[in-house]
Amino acid sequence: MTHAHPRPRILVLGTGGTIAGAARSRTGKAYGAGEVALETMLDEIGTLELEAELAARPIARIGSQDIGWKEWDALHREIAAAQADPEIDGVIVTHGTDTAEETAFLLDLTLPAGKPVVLVGAMRPSDAVGSDGMRNFANAVRVAGDPESADRGVLVVMADTVFAAADVRKAATANVDAFRGYPRGPLARVTPSSLDWFAPTHRTGSAARFAWPDALPRVGILTAGAGMDEKPVEALLGIGCAGLVLAGMGQGNAPQVVIEALGQAAAGGVPVVRSARVDEGMVDRNVEVDDDAHGFVAARALGPAKARVLLMALIANGITEPKRIQLAFDGR
Ligand code: GLU
Repeated sequence: MTHAHPRPRILVLGTGGTIAGAARSRTGKAYGAGEVALETMLDEIGTLELEAELAARPIARIGSQDIGWKEWDALHREIAAAQADPEIDGVIVTHGTDTAEETAFLLDLTLPAGKPVVLVGAMRPSDAVGSDGMRNFANAVRVAGDPESADRGVLVVMADTVFAAADVRKAATANVDAFRGYPRGPLARVTPSSLDWFAPTHRTGSAARFAWPDALPRVGILTAGAGMDEKPVEALLGIGCAGLVLAGMGQGNAPQVVIEALGQAAAGGVPVVRSARVDEGMVDRNVEVDDDAHGFVAARALGPAKARVLLMALIANGITEPKRIQLAFDGR
C-alpha cells in the first residue's frame, strides 16, 4: 500500500490520558489526566517539523479508567469513516495508558486491517521533567504515516516500541517503558525519524473479525484468591452478567467450590472463560481443570482484561456456545 499524498495526512482523535495530562509542577506527583486540549498538543507537535499533515478531532478529555461504550462507539465510527476516506492516510488515537490495551484490542477486533491505526499515550504528564508524551506522539506520527504500518491492525506505540493490539499489556504502574507484548514481543522499534519492523503482521485478511454492535453486554471479571468461597460467583450472576472471566491462579485455577459454581453458571448458559491472574503464560484446556466437563473456555494467551473484551464482542455478536468461543480465543 502506498499513500495518496506526498506528506501523509493523519487524523488525530484525542481521548485524554497522561499524554494530555498537566501537573503544574515539573517534579510533583499529583496531576490531572486529559487537562491539555488536543489543539494545544498539536501546536506543540507542529514545532517538531514532522513529515505529516495532522488534523485533530477531540472525542473526550478523560483518564482512560473512565473510557467506555460512549467513547468506543465514537472512536469506531470515526476510524471506520477514516478508513473509507481517501483524504486520510492513517489515524492516531491519544489515550490514557491504563486501558489502552482494551480500547486497542476492541478496535482491532471490529475494524478492517487497512490503513494504520495507532494508539499512543504517555506515562508522565506533559509538563513533567523528562515527559515522554511528545516523543511518543512523534513516534506515533512516524508509524501512522508509514505505508508499511498498513494491514497490521491496531498498533500501540510507547517508549520507542510498537506492539500489536492483540499482544500489548500494561505491565508496570509507573515506568516509561511500562508496556510489554505477550505472547509476541515488540513488532518494531521506532524513533521520530526511523521505523524498523522485525515481525510480520499477524492479521489474516483485511475484514473486521466482528461486527460493531449496538451495545456491549455486562461481563464480569472474578479474581481468584486463596481461601475464597463461591459467593462472589453468585453475586456476579445476581447482577446479570452475560459472561464471566475468571482471573485464576496459575493456569487459571480457583478453589474447587468456585470452579463448581462457575461450572453451574456455564451449564446455565453463561459463558465462562478461564484466564490467569499471572502476568504471562498460556492458559490451556484441561490441564488441572476439566474444561470439557465444566463447559469452560480457556483464555489461551489473553489476560483477564482482554479476555473480557473478546467475550463482550463475541456475546454482542450472538456467539455464546463454548466451542465457538474457544475457537475465537484459540485464533485471537
Ligand atoms: N489513569 C490515567 C489514564 O489511563 C492516566 C494514566 C496514563 O495515561 O498513563 O488515562
